[in-house]
Amino acid sequence: MPVAKPTQLSEARFRKLFDETHAMSIQGYRSDGTVVYWNAASEKIYGYSPAEALGKNLLDLIIPHEMREEVRKAMAWMFANKTGIPSGRLNLKHKNGSSVPVYSSHTVVELPGEEPIMFCMDADMRALDLAEAEVQKLSYFDVLTGLPNRRLLLDHLQGALQGLRVEHQYGALLLLDLDNFHGINDTLGYDAGDQVLVACARRLQHHISEPSLVARIAADEFVVLLQPLEHSIGAAATEAELAAQRLLQALRRPVAIDQQPHNLQARIGITVFGNRTDDQHELLRQVDIALKHAKSREETAIAFFDRSMEANIQRRIKLSQALSTALEKEQFFLEFQPQVDVQQHVVGYEALLRWRHPVFGLIAPDEFIPIAESNHSIHAIGDWVFEQCCWQIVRWQQANCCRNLHLSINVSAVQFRRDDYVKRTQSILKRTGANPAQLRLELTESLMAGNIDFIVEQMQALKDLGLSLSLDDFGTGYASLAYLTRFPLDELKIDRAFVTDLADDGKGALLAATIIGLGRNMNLTVIAEGVETIEQFGRLRDMGCEVFQGYWFGKPTPHLPEA
Ligand code: C2E
Ligand code: CA
Ligand code: CA
Repeated sequence: MPVAKPTQLSEARFRKLFDETHAMSIQGYRSDGTVVYWNAASEKIYGYSPAEALGKNLLDLIIPHEMREEVRKAMAWMFANKTGIPSGRLNLKHKNGSSVPVYSSHTVVELPGEEPIMFCMDADMRALDLAEAEVQKLSYFDVLTGLPNRRLLLDHLQGALQGLRVEHQYGALLLLDLDNFHGINDTLGYDAGDQVLVACARRLQHHISEPSLVARIAADEFVVLLQPLEHSIGAAATEAELAAQRLLQALRRPVAIDQQPHNLQARIGITVFGNRTDDQHELLRQVDIALKHAKSREETAIAFFDRSMEANIQRRIKLSQALSTALEKEQFFLEFQPQVDVQQHVVGYEALLRWRHPVFGLIAPDEFIPIAESNHSIHAIGDWVFEQCCWQIVRWQQANCCRNLHLSINVSAVQFRRDDYVKRTQSILKRTGANPAQLRLELTESLMAGNIDFIVEQMQALKDLGLSLSLDDFGTGYASLAYLTRFPLDELKIDRAFVTDLADDGKGALLAATIIGLGRNMNLTVIAEGVETIEQFGRLRDMGCEVFQGYWFGKPTPHLPEA
């Protein structure tokens, strides 16, 4: 075999490289435009096979008619100067007549003793555009549902805000979150979860038309941008609320997952914006707050953002943080409110918790107890209250006083439901040595919403420790009379609302009388709370009530009889 000359070697190498390049069409031309080289990629781009192209003229093959003169001149210049013209975008011609956008580079190669050849290297811009479109789609749309993603939403929102600035209209942003989506994922698997999301996306889309928009911005969070809305903020809000209701309605129709129907529920936060609205990120923050609000309440599936809500949430967050260190910083104290019998002799006290914070001041239990329940600090706080009351009983025992008085202690449903509640209570009793007969736990009616067997068991275990039990706020809702007979209770506490209502001989009087009668029949002590006048006291006493508590007899104070 003859040894190849170095130039032949390098030429072979280049040829191979040219031939096998997929991304770029490479063509070689003589100075008269005859095709002498045509790689495989050129066929892909221009439609001519090498056999069809070789020997033909450049101008006839791929140069559109109107460009021919210009190309002829450029070629003459390149061969004369032995150099290429600058690279750039051109629209050339496919075999089938269509236009081919390419990015084209040129060079003239002249090897010693050979005629000069012009090489053109063209990259297909359609492929680039397609690639760009693909990238665009990925970065602006959610792959699963095909809905716009957070990024595209933000772009649209910005556009919407600018539009409103001019037109004095309103728009609304809705943030929709599926209830228990994680439950579906966990129990039925991610495929089922995906099916649910796609079904949701379709339904939402079905109800929203341009220029409004549905986007998916997180796992189970969809955003709806509604625009334009009515020209007054009130009307715009109403329109947004109706739209939200329609969406919830649409989601409520069962979704078939693996042939099984599933009901979907969702919650929606709404913020309405007008021409003086802040930026789009601010709007997303607002709907988020509104959604949290919608989630925090059982009765509302839809909530609107307003400024006071924001202030509330911020205060709640701050209080929640402060609560976690309130015990160790000794910011809690107790007040005691007397309970009296028909002769108005004190029979015991209700312990009421107070929180004094160095910055926030005195905070009412109605505000901080629900926060303590949701951040779980209620368990430690509740133990502290119980222990303080135990020590008070011990002091009374040691001082040989008040042995017939009891302390009533509020126990939240969250505390009571915890498995170890009885054990903790027992260990505090043991540690302090307090007499349980002088301690009464006030349980609220909201407790009764749970598993009745567990509640009865838990109550019985507390009774077995020697404690007595009272049902607080009785008459406000949950307790069904049928269940009442199953609970090992000692006392019913008539809610303040009935006492307040007594005067007008309305529902309050009738209910109070009924409850008192009921309690007596069941052998329970009946106590009325919130007694503020002597008239109320008189009427309740005449109805058969035996114990009373309220401002008329004494407000809560930090002081108790000691001697
Ligand atoms: P509650 O158990 O129904 O307590 C009675 C509330 O009514 C107390 O408010 C008391 O100050 C108020 N009150 C008493 N007499 C009158 C009256 O004649 N008129 C009026 N208008 N109000 C009267 P407070 O102390 O603000 O407590 C509010 C709630 O906070 C309590 O309602 C109870 O549910 C909860 N709470 C208080 N201390 C504790 C505690 O240590 N643990 C738990 N879990 N909850 C507590
Ligand atoms: Ca109470
Ligand atoms: Ca009460």
